[in-house]
Amino acid sequence: MGEDCQFTHDEVLGKLAEPPLPEEDAPVDLHTHTDASDGSYEPEELVRRAAEAGLAAIAVTDHDTLAGLERACRAGLEHGIRVIPGVELSCRIPDGTLHILGYFVLPGSGRLDEKLTWLRDERLSRGSRIVERLNELGLALDPADVEAKAKGGALGRPHIAQALVDAGHVKDAQEAFDKYLMKGAPAYVDKAVLPMDEAVGAIKACGGVPVMAHPHQTNREGDDLKELISGLVSAGLRGIEAHYSLHTPEQTAEYLGYAEEFGLIITGGTDYHGPRKKDISLGVGKGDMHIPYRLVLGLMEEAKK
Ligand code: AMP
Ligand code: ZN
Ligand code: FE
Ligand code: FE
Repeated sequence: MGEDCQFTHDEVLGKLAEPPLPEEDAPVDLHTHTDASDGSYEPEELVRRAAEAGLAAIAVTDHDTLAGLERACRAGLEHGIRVIPGVELSCRIPDGTLHILGYFVLPGSGRLDEKLTWLRDERLSRGSRIVERLNELGLALDPADVEAKAKGGALGRPHIAQALVDAGHVKDAQEAFDKYLMKGAPAYVDKAVLPMDEAVGAIKACGGVPVMAHPHQTNREGDDLKELISGLVSAGLRGIEAHYSLHTPEQTAEYLGYAEEFGLIITGGTDYHGPRKKDISLGVGKGDMHIPYRLVLGLMEEAKK
């Protein structure tokens, strides 16, 4: 990938606007992962499954990498499903998790590429430190094998878990997390993240639309959450993922209220990772989600601004 991405921002938007347009209520999923980060499926397979599930559009939002986007966009053309190129960036906040989604981002876009390269390099060093700790614990693991599992995308703990399974040290990935990799376990190492204004700014710098992912993960509500959102809006935030697999109806209502209050567009997604997160299904989350295509129209309007 890198500078050689075959699609431009305008082409992607043009393809999305091509008739026949989906019904406004047609189902979509605006938060999914491929094996370019920690999803189970290759981009082609993810997109094929989304088409098979009857989705009108899907956004691919891997952590810290755009490596799967061109393949996903091509697969979308092949299977007749609209693909929105995206990314998900992690930020650190006290006592919670803040993730920023970026929609309509593509490789070859200066500042975002630079940040992503730094994040991926940091993931590689972190991976080496985790492998060192595992070695110290008596688990032989070759750093090169671990790195190969990420296939040039964003190396994460699921890749290390898989390497531990393949080496016969644990029976499955869950055992790897429970014994060694989860926060607080002996081989856990924090990952590098971006300050939130840098994450939002890098997405905006390449014409992308920054959206706050799954607000419930911030562990904030009411005025505390509003204060966080207000800071993000000052940095350039344009949307909020009000609809999410794990939001309660009350949380969704609260977040829809903030969208209105701060003039943010609304998005929705399942955070599908494939069988790796087996209770979340593409398009429907835990089974009852319906994310309508009209949310894509809002995103497209925002991307054209
Ligand atoms: P990383 O970005 O390298 O910290 O990896 C995060 C990913 O690891 C998540 O998206 C999950 O897929 C997986 N993960 C994190 N914690 C656990 C856990 N306790 N059990 C199983 N998988 C986990
Ligand atoms: Zn993930
Ligand atoms: Fe996330
Ligand atoms: Fe995600």
